[in-house]
Amino acid sequence: MAYTPMMQQYLQIKKSYQNHILMFRMGDFYEMFFDDALLASKELEIALTARDGGGGKKVPMCGVPHHAAQTYIARLIERGHRVAICEQTEDPRQAKGLVKREVTRIVTPGTLMEGQYLDDKKNNYLTAVVVEETGCGLAYSDISTGSFFVTQFNGPNAYNELIDEIHRLQPAELLLTSEANADLSKRLTGAVNILFTAIDDSLFTLESAENIINQQFGSEWRETGIDRLVLGLRAAGGILLYLMETQKRNLQQINRPQIYHTHQYMKIDAVSRRNLELTSSIRDGQRWGTLIWVLDYTCTAMGSRLLKLWIEQPLLDSSTIKKRLDAVEELLNNLIMRTQLRENLKQVYDLERLAGRVAYGSANARDLLALRKSFDVLPKIKALINNVNSELLIDIINSLDDMSDINELLHRALVDDPPVQVRDGGILKSGFHPEVDRLRAASRNGKDWLARLEAEERQRTGIKSLKVGFNKVFGYYLEVTKANLNQVPKHYIRRQTLVNAERFITNQLKEYEDMILGAQDRLVQLEYQLFGEIRQTVAGELQRIQGTAGRLAVLDVLSSLAESAQRYNFVRPIVNSSRKIVISDGRHPVVERVLKAGNFVPNDTYMDENNKLILLTGPNMAGKSTYMRQVALITLMAQMGSFVPAAAAEIGVVDYIFTRIGAADDLAGGRSTFMVEMSECRNIVNNATPNSLIIMDEVGRGTSTYDGISIARALVEYIHDKIGARTLFSTHYHELTDLEALPGVVNCTVSVHEENDEIIFLRKVLPGKVDKSYGIQVARLAGLPEEILNRAHDVLHRMEITVMNRQDTETGTDRAVKISVAGRCDQCPERLIIKELAKVDVMHITPMQALTLLHQWTEKLKDDV
Ligand code: ADP
Repeated sequence: MAYTPMMQQYLQIKKSYQNHILMFRMGDFYEMFFDDALLASKELEIALTARDGGGGKKVPMCGVPHHAAQTYIARLIERGHRVAICEQTEDPRQAKGLVKREVTRIVTPGTLMEGQYLDDKKNNYLTAVVVEETGCGLAYSDISTGSFFVTQFNGPNAYNELIDEIHRLQPAELLLTSEANADLSKRLTGAVNILFTAIDDSLFTLESAENIINQQFGSEWRETGIDRLVLGLRAAGGILLYLMETQKRNLQQINRPQIYHTHQYMKIDAVSRRNLELTSSIRDGQRWGTLIWVLDYTCTAMGSRLLKLWIEQPLLDSSTIKKRLDAVEELLNNLIMRTQLRENLKQVYDLERLAGRVAYGSANARDLLALRKSFDVLPKIKALINNVNSELLIDIINSLDDMSDINELLHRALVDDPPVQVRDGGILKSGFHPEVDRLRAASRNGKDWLARLEAEERQRTGIKSLKVGFNKVFGYYLEVTKANLNQVPKHYIRRQTLVNAERFITNQLKEYEDMILGAQDRLVQLEYQLFGEIRQTVAGELQRIQGTAGRLAVLDVLSSLAESAQRYNFVRPIVNSSRKIVISDGRHPVVERVLKAGNFVPNDTYMDENNKLILLTGPNMAGKSTYMRQVALITLMAQMGSFVPAAAAEIGVVDYIFTRIGAADDLAGGRSTFMVEMSECRNIVNNATPNSLIIMDEVGRGTSTYDGISIARALVEYIHDKIGARTLFSTHYHELTDLEALPGVVNCTVSVHEENDEIIFLRKVLPGKVDKSYGIQVARLAGLPEEILNRAHDVLHRMEITVMNRQDTETGTDRAVKISVAGRCDQCPERLIIKELAKVDVMHITPMQALTLLHQWTEKLKDDV
């Protein structure tokens, strides 16, 4: 079938955009055809129609009006599609034959610029990865703010570290080669909602990366040391080339790549991030009920995004942490300064994204006005914070650029309420540009003349109802009703006949019309041109604006931390390089806030070299996991520079927080609950260091009791003997409490009060252990029917009798003890003593030798306790 010329043009363009929905501009509409139309009509809930494609054959079609296109594009992107926008690139009135068309921009989830699609509180990252045997490179950029980061992972764990980092970033789109795609997309399924975009290997070569980075940032980029990260560099090249291809314009708003290494920050693997509910909840991925929900009192969008970053990247260097804490303390203590600072910060718009749009060339006059209003508060902020002591605040204020030159320009140029459209004029203040003023005067004079003309002509002709009017086709005219036509003078020229009236022009009227319209046209043109120049001038100061935005963001986060500290009674922690975690009256920041005031029971924690591993027992629902998470969150908060929910806290810096909490099936990944649990444990034992903090909740629950006890015991022993990390290990296997015999292991329990087969949770963590699980009592609390509870009682009772009988038949040996002894490490004192005891020949030693041995053994045991 022969397609119409236009269809041929469409198909030719579509060939290059097979994976995109092509929006094809036709007059006032963007049309979609064939499969794109079928898909888009469904996704956008718009009518599917058909168009003659040639030879009478219909092709499916749907369309959206161009003025509403943004909303439709947003919806397609939200659903994970890529959209190619094809514009008419010549004026249809001047086109000979078919209008020229070209794809002018590609929109994908990772390349969004427009504010309306973007979440203020989150960065929208485009990420690229390069995976090789030797390591992995990672680069990411948020093109709406211009941020651009590069890192690289080396060594045997590189791939896992890459995956953890991608989980932290939660990018909107991930660029990779098709080879890397297969495995990575599987490893990331279900965890994050990412669009995977496979790009050609050639976009990831070192040569292309060097070329594009040189071209983009000049040859000085080498000074930043990025060329030592070959894989990261290749990923960065991939990002830039992809952006060039999709944006089809210069990428002025993208900052030079900043290099970082994950070992500069506390590591938190993907599972632990999820478990600790730092910035999104496990339940529904929302903010409610997360740490950031408690801490976020930021006043600006930049601040909110930075706070998220601080939570996700706690620091390791105690002196940098101390600087943040000093600043928070100063803002906490100076209520007046903080309140005024926050009032001012509330006036500041999203400078990062505004600056991005200015550089991108899509900012309108209202965006520039928002910049101006934001700049207006800078001198006030500088004045407010001029008398501070904390080093960080002093640094910020000393380096805060108040942008006065640019602000002066914006004040001189822009009216106070400019229109959204930049091509309609009305943007510039009078006095800014003489020609604008002249044209405005000409147009105004012309209009005055017209107003006078009506009165004069009425008088001259005696036609009282004569009117001066305007329409787009005929321009200005004089309108006379039919009844008065006989009074129309000879020099009136007839232009249009209506039902009740006729419209005329005169030569003089046309002369003025030329003057008025010409002046207006030129005025609008000139205003647009001048606006473009102003925007360009502002864009030239991009780095300064971004620097100011960054400093305000830090101020905002610090004041937000002071605010949350005050509201929730947090205290300043001591952060040092001891191996301690000492917390008195610690609270879980989120659970405390969810419960009614005063209902949260605070608890102490004491961990140091001699109390490294806390074995926490207690029935279900007692509060074990709340307690353990509370310790992890307090540690993390301290290292991000926040005050903490406690009466006092000393935190020896932790390099890595691991958690193994709760049972989560990974059905999509084809792993059972137990399998997930065990692979998380493997990750912990492979990566934890003596400076890490490990939280393990009920490990071994996913298998049979004896298996579970054995694995749990072996894990505790391994962590104790081989890793030496500070560890909180909760278990309802009370058989494990004899592990207390190992040096550094401490038993604690969350106390409950039992009365008449009912339990009351006291939520208090105390030294000691329990020897009961209280499962049936907890089941009663959960409202399980009485009949089932009674039956459970019977079964339990019978099992207890069987166990007792069996212990009798096993010649008095307690089976549970047997298991626990068999599972102990060979180096523990009891085991050594038993071995030595077995060797003693009682018949051939003197009473004195026997006493000496006995003394040695008791000493050994004393050391151990
Ligand atoms: P476990 O891990 O022992 O099964 P959780 O830590 O899940 O118990 O706690 C169960 C519930 O008890 C929590 O949802 C919380 O509402 C409440 N809770 C836990 N700790 C405390 C506390 N210290 N003070 C008050 N309520 C608490």
